[in-house]
Amino acid sequence: MLIHDGIISPQELAPILPSEERLKKGPVAIIECIQDIPCDPCVSACPRKAISMREGITDKPVLDPAVCNGCSLCVASCPGLAIFIVNLAHAPRAATVTLPYEMLPVPKEGEVVTALDRAGKPICEAKVLKVMKNRKYDRTLAITIEVPKDQAMNARAIRVAAKGGRP
Ligand code: SF4
Ligand code: SF4
Repeated sequence: MLIHDGIISPQELAPILPSEERLKKGPVAIIECIQDIPCDPCVSACPRKAISMREGITDKPVLDPAVCNGCSLCVASCPGLAIFIVNLAHAPRAATVTLPYEMLPVPKEGEVVTALDRAGKPICEAKVLKVMKNRKYDRTLAITIEVPKDQAMNARAIRVAAKGGRP
C-alpha cells in the first residue's frame, strides 16, 4: 500500500483505472495520485479540462477518460511524478507508456532501456519512442517507451545505461 511502502497496490489502483473499453481505444492518462495533498498543477496543465478536483486543491485529481486524448501534456506537470499515459492500442503485441523522467543520462529516441516497475524492479526491455521536453517544466521530461502489452500496467520508470554500458 502507498501509505506503508510508498508503492500503490493493485487494490488502490483498480478504482482509478479507466475502463478496459477506454484503455483499448487508445492513449489515456492514468493518474496514480490517491492521497489528499495540497497540489493541483495537473488540473491547469490539461488543455481539454479532463482533470478536475471536486473539493478544491486538497482533493484527489479525477480524470474524465472520455475527454482525455492521451496528449501527454500533463505528465511533466506533476511534481509527484504520478501521471502516466498508457496506449494499449499501439500494436497487436506492444503497448506504449509515457512516463516522467528526471534523471541522467537522458535516453535517445530508438535506444533500448530497462523498464522498471513501481518498486524499481527491472521487468523488461523497452524501446524509447519519444523524448518530450516542455519549456514550462524543464526539469521533467515525458518519455514514451514501447513495452510488451502485458507490462503496460507495470512499467512505470526506466533505467538508462551509462554511456557505452548496458541498461
Ligand atoms: S493526457 Fe492530455 S488530455 Fe489527457 S489528462 Fe493529460 S493533458 Fe489532459
Ligand atoms: S500534480 Fe501530480 S501530485 Fe499534484 S495533484 Fe496532480 S497528480 Fe497529484
